[in-house]
Amino acid sequence: MNYYSLNKKAPNTTFKNAVIKGLAPDKGLYFPESIRPLDKAFFDNIDNLSHSEIAFEAIKQFVSPEIPETVLKTIVEDTLSFEFPVVKLNENISTLELFHGPTMAFKDVGARFMARCLGYFNKDNANEVTVLVATSGDTGGAVANGFLGVKGVNVVILYPSGKVSDIQEKQLTTLGQNITALEVNGTFDDCQAMVKTAFLDQELTSNMQLTSANSINVARWLPQLFYFMFAYKQLHNQYDDIVFSVPSGNFGNICAGIMAQQLGLPITHFIASNNENNVVTRYLQSQLYEPKPSIQTISNAMDVGAPSNFIRIQEIYKNKFETLKSNISSYSFSDEDTKSAILEIYNNYNYVADPHGAVGYLGCKAHLKENPKVHCVFLETAHPTKFLDVVEDVIKEEQSLPEQIQSVMGRDKVATLISTYEDLKGFLLK
Ligand SMILES: *Cc1c(COP(=O)(O)O)cnc(C)c1O
Repeated sequence: MNYYSLNKKAPNTTFKNAVIKGLAPDKGLYFPESIRPLDKAFFDNIDNLSHSEIAFEAIKQFVSPEIPETVLKTIVEDTLSFEFPVVKLNENISTLELFHGPTMAFKDVGARFMARCLGYFNKDNANEVTVLVATSGDTGGAVANGFLGVKGVNVVILYPSGKVSDIQEKQLTTLGQNITALEVNGTFDDCQAMVKTAFLDQELTSNMQLTSANSINVARWLPQLFYFMFAYKQLHNQYDDIVFSVPSGNFGNICAGIMAQQLGLPITHFIASNNENNVVTRYLQSQLYEPKPSIQTISNAMDVGAPSNFIRIQEIYKNKFETLKSNISSYSFSDEDTKSAILEIYNNYNYVADPHGAVGYLGCKAHLKENPKVHCVFLETAHPTKFLDVVEDVIKEEQSLPEQIQSVMGRDKVATLISTYEDLKGFLLK
């Protein structure tokens, strides 16, 4: 499959190049040249397919021929070596738990898939690639874990000092090997600005191959479409009309869900559930797209003022506002709403949700008011103990830490403190 730049001022390129470059030379996001729907027989037969068989069939067209089928089979099997259970809360609402991976965030799947693709492309170790990534928390841990030990790939993670949780900091700073953590004396926006400057710095880019590992990268974005198929497999025999509520920040995950729908997955509707960073909610009301600086909330992985993947959703719907609006609804919720939802889910269903999942739950409830017959699945994008302070404060019950988290808490942090872009550049060039 070849990819074109959404800015339409760069040549089309292969999957391999799109993964290695991250962003097109004209700064546009890459998008596949075509989307070929899967046979109806694939969906009819989904009960008999394993997760890796589903994933293999779904992603094949986007990565071939550069990743041969035998290699792709191994990549999806390695990537998906944990569970994706659906938990039913009531007849109208279920949650799809995406937090059973090594860092207990849904970003594990995309990070692991991308790492394995890059590892394959770099197997001869001819040209080392440096993955440079800024994180406000979850991305860094998933990327660090996903890329650990991949030959020919170095990972440099920038995170804002004192602004990630203890658990998240441990997940970033304790792995060693090809993973380096830079602790930035500044905010997440400072980290992101440094990364952007680095990608535009010709002295750097002529010396090294830099790439990104956030959801602008097609190899991190596309595998997220698997989730929606896994949920469908678990629910389609019970419910005819399945909709998804996706807690959204950069809109990579929901856009991948829409790709699954484009591949023929029988889903009727998507709900983009936002915290108070609600540029898309406002867009669907007013047709005016007005990005704003982000606001800090308790669902902080969704604190995004200018969602980078929304442009891909517009592309899928051919930039037609009415088509987009008929397929996607969007709602925005405050921190107070979110806390009440965590408590309500706990009291009514004895289920502990994290703040992001709780926003998704609220999206389901809002949609069900107008569409009482559908079955709404909200994505639980992180394990609740990753947001321990909020969750324990709301439900007044101590949570025990899962094994994946306990195992990093005892390790020693190793990070290099930096303050300026010159510090970063000096570090990369040495
Ligand atoms: C990244 C993240 C999100 C938002 O996903 P997008 O693809 O950026 O919309 C939601 N919840 C959690 C826990 C995340 O880490």
